[in-house]
Amino acid sequence: MLCGCGKKAIIKIRYLDKYFCKNCFHKSVEKRFIEYIKKNNLATKRDKIAVAVSGGKDSLTCLYLMNQFFKASAITINEGIKGYRDTTTNFVKKYCKEWDVDYHIFSFKKEIGYSLDEIVKKLKENPCAICGVLRRYILNKKAKELGFTKIATGHNLDDEAQSIFMSLFLSNIEALVRLGPVAGIIKSKGFVPRIKPLRLISEKEIMLYFISKNLEKSYIECPYSRTAFRLKIRDGLNVFENIFPSSKPNIVKNFDSLKKRFKKFKARIKVCGCGEPTSRKICKACEIIKKLKN
Ligand code: SF4
Repeated sequence: MLCGCGKKAIIKIRYLDKYFCKNCFHKSVEKRFIEYIKKNNLATKRDKIAVAVSGGKDSLTCLYLMNQFFKASAITINEGIKGYRDTTTNFVKKYCKEWDVDYHIFSFKKEIGYSLDEIVKKLKENPCAICGVLRRYILNKKAKELGFTKIATGHNLDDEAQSIFMSLFLSNIEALVRLGPVAGIIKSKGFVPRIKPLRLISEKEIMLYFISKNLEKSYIECPYSRTAFRLKIRDGLNVFENIFPSSKPNIVKNFDSLKKRFKKFKARIKVCGCGEPTSRKICKACEIIKKLKN
C-alpha cells in the first residue's frame, strides 16, 4: 500500500482511514499533537512545562514532542519499587542529556518517609491506588515549588477510553468527571494543571512513533503492574476497535461532549493542613501518611 505522498506505507490508521509512510506518519502525529494542545488551550509558549516521565514509551514520547514545540523539563517521582524505577530512570537521564532537558527526581522515601514497597508491606492496600495518590501529591507540590505552570502526562487514547469505561463500570462518577484534556475538575492556584496532549493518539501509533524514531525504553514491568480489571477492559475495547474502527476515539470524543453538560458537578476547594488543595477535609495523601504513622 502507498502513502498519499507515493512512498511505501508503514501503517494504516484505521480511524483516519489513511496509509502513511514513515515520514508522513511522523508529521501526522506531530501535527495532531500540537493541534490538540492549541484546540484545548493546554499550553502556550509562556508556560513553564514539566513532563511527568516514568521512562515508558508514552511519557518519553510526550517529553520528546513537548520539547519540539516548547521548552520542557522532566520530572520523575521515584516510588521506591525495588528493581524497577532505578532502571527506568536511566533511560530518562540518557534522553534528557541528549535533548538538553532539565531533569528533576523526587522520591517517596524522602518526601513521605517510606518507599512504596514499605508502604505496601505496612498498609496491605492496593499499591496502584496508593502510588497514584502519593505520586500526584508530590508531583503537584514539587511542580509548584519549581514554578511550573503545567504538568504534561503521557496518557494516550487507549488509557483514556479504558478509564472512561472503568469509571462507568464501577459507578465512580467522581473519577469519571475528572477525566478530560486537563485532569481534574478543580481549578485552583494550588493545583498545577495536568494536561494530556497525547489523549487522542492511540497506543499503537505512539509505539510505532517511538520505535521509528529509534527511541529506547526499559521493558521491565512494574511488579505491582496494572489491575486485572484494566487489562480486561483493554482487551474488550481492542475487540470493539477491530470490529468497529473509531470505537476508541468516539468513546473519548463523545465523553468530552457529554462532560460539557456535567457542569452541575462542582467540587468545593479546601486547603488541607499540609497546604495542598483538596475537595475533602484532609487530602488523600495526608490520610495515607496518617495511617502509616499510626
Ligand atoms: Fe505505581 Fe501501580 Fe504504576 Fe506500579 S503499576 S508504578 S504501583 S501505579
